Amino acid sequence: MAEHESLEYGKADFVLLDNVSMEEFMTNLKLRFEKGRIYTYIGEVVVSVNPYRAMNIYGRDIVEQYKGRELYERPPHLFAIADAAYKAMKRRNKDTCIVISGESGAGKTEASKYIMQYIAAITNPNQRAEVERVKNMLLKSNCVLEAFGNAKTNRNDNSSRFGKYMDINFDFKGDPIGGHISNYLLEKVKANYRRLLRGAPDSLLRSLHIKKDPTAYNYIKVGGQIKVSSINDGADFKAVADAMKVIGFTGDEIQTVYKILATILHLGNLTFGVDGDVTLIENTKLVSVIRELLSTKEENVEKALLYRTVATGRDVIEKQHTAQEASYGRDALAKAMYERLFCWIVGRINDIIEVKNYDARVHGKNTVIGVLDIYGFEIFQNNSFEQFCINYCNEKLQQLFIQLVLKQEQEEYQREGIPWKHIDYFNNQIIVDLVEQQHKGIFSVLDEACMNVGKVTDEVFLQGLNGKLAKHAHYTSRKLSPTDKSLEFDRDFRIRHYAGDVVYSVVGFIDKNKDTLFQDFKRLLYNSSNPVLKAMWPEGKLSITEVTKRPLTAATLFKNSMILLVENLACKEPYYVRCIKPNDVKSPLLFEQERCRHQVEYLGLLENVRVRRAGFAYRQTYPRFLQRYKMISEFTWPNHDLPSDKDAVKRLMQGCGFDHDVAYGKTKVFIRTPRTLFSLEEQRASL
Ligand code: ATP
Ligand code: MG
Repeated sequence: MAEHESLEYGKADFVLLDNVSMEEFMTNLKLRFEKGRIYTYIGEVVVSVNPYRAMNIYGRDIVEQYKGRELYERPPHLFAIADAAYKAMKRRNKDTCIVISGESGAGKTEASKYIMQYIAAITNPNQRAEVERVKNMLLKSNCVLEAFGNAKTNRNDNSSRFGKYMDINFDFKGDPIGGHISNYLLEKVKANYRRLLRGAPDSLLRSLHIKKDPTAYNYIKVGGQIKVSSINDGADFKAVADAMKVIGFTGDEIQTVYKILATILHLGNLTFGVDGDVTLIENTKLVSVIRELLSTKEENVEKALLYRTVATGRDVIEKQHTAQEASYGRDALAKAMYERLFCWIVGRINDIIEVKNYDARVHGKNTVIGVLDIYGFEIFQNNSFEQFCINYCNEKLQQLFIQLVLKQEQEEYQREGIPWKHIDYFNNQIIVDLVEQQHKGIFSVLDEACMNVGKVTDEVFLQGLNGKLAKHAHYTSRKLSPTDKSLEFDRDFRIRHYAGDVVYSVVGFIDKNKDTLFQDFKRLLYNSSNPVLKAMWPEGKLSITEVTKRPLTAATLFKNSMILLVENLACKEPYYVRCIKPNDVKSPLLFEQERCRHQVEYLGLLENVRVRRAGFAYRQTYPRFLQRYKMISEFTWPNHDLPSDKDAVKRLMQGCGFDHDVAYGKTKVFIRTPRTLFSLEEQRASL
């Protein structure tokens, strides 16, 4: 609880509200936003409202104010959370993680950058060169990932189209020595190769056969608006190129990246036609450009685009595509090349930043702070496979939050024998199961539908869902509730998520779930004489008869990556940043009440306040508590003669007049409000 702010700015911690009601919560949130106080606590959770204007609160002077201080000593700030996570890591040897959530445009990525910036600012006081190098690379890696993974959407000019989790490793001195990045589900369609080549020097564009005029490229036109006013293309290009060099990408690697981007743009302009029963490429000149960029033979490019090799029994035949199939293949190739490029970039960054040669026997434990910046819950006009995955991810994170914060809290009180008022909260495990359960879950039904021989359509998938999930309380379709006109018959299903109802259209689910890239393309890229490109496509080594295993589906890959992510987070001490988007027009002045209320609701913030209030802000085992505070009481200093440490702590607290704010568990003392702790600290310091 920040003591240093006057009430004119509202309550700095929602725990201090007179009544925990939605109304009071919203009044406080709005007041603080209007007064330029964008951060508010719920205990140790930071609630952040996007200010949509530059705030003068991230400078070096502010860093100094938060460094090494306790959370409740200063006004709420991201820096305080970053510092708390850092202290836990350094003093108590705990791995920690900071989970940043909220919807698109709420300010997650900005928050993650301020947190990284803070950690960079407070570490390495001795300016060790190696640590500086690592810090620089960690910061630069952000810039590269954003360049390739962000895009303009109608909700955010710089929207992250991928989820990101970054571990930063620290040595025993608390200095960063490396890191590791995991990326989740890049939304290929929206990814922004458009922006990347703009601002490139003319000579480079010429060598890639790229025209300066962006309207010359179909894939750019499809993307709608080309120039984002808030983004300076020229500076971006150079910054990204420099960042890649600093991180350690070789010249050949960087050239290959450009070639791939250019290939994708050229691919978008390829058109197909028919002559009799022969499918052909209409603009053959482009084929020779693509051939050159991919370092392969012209006939290979042509063949991969127009034919598909199929194995029928022991025979291998070349089957000609129709023009439509060829266009479909072309788009799949472009998307797959981009996705692979992105994953390869992440992999290369990891090769370079990963901790090497750390000997824990010599240097002590290497600890970790993880930062998760991941897409929040999405409800659009039209929700598809991507939204389904993203919302499933949010269900998983909510489940983790419930387990870590709500359930553990309640369980600890029970263990310690402290009376506990049960807080009702909705446990969303049932929805997590609905999606991920083996055999019965939606992902399983989808995978099954994809494996059908014969007719594999989105409708078949929907029928599968209806068959398996008819009785599920969180699943509906038009077939199951015929009167529900908001659902279309062979298209929609609805999930009742913890955050609200979402209608998904099954259109495209099958396609997006299957790995639809023909083996012919993989072989084409693998057979390139450019070693960097070749290395990106190792599976192209196999001929059609050797491909025996189906590649894992997108759903399965995503599910597995989510399970790993949650396991990884679950063994760390979590800190939360909950981001709220105040309006849809990027205004620094407008607080749209309804919009914000909805977010507060689905982020579960009120429940969070209730649990926090019912709970205790601080807890410590009796011996450790005495160790720190025994000097402030005559009964305990230098030693006590009471029967137990528990009795001694009781005596100490009674003496200070804090007894009313404390509960005594079996092994730990529990303090309700941080203010009490603050006073203890002050008394200790004044001795
Ligand atoms: P997405 O899920 O689409 O990636 P996001 O939650 O990561 O969205 P950001 O990109 O972090 O959203 O923020 C969107 C925009 O809001 C930023 O580009 C910036 O203009 C503004 N913004 C966010 N946080 C702040 C802040 N703390 N100070 C000033 N502006 C901010
Ligand atoms: Mg983002």
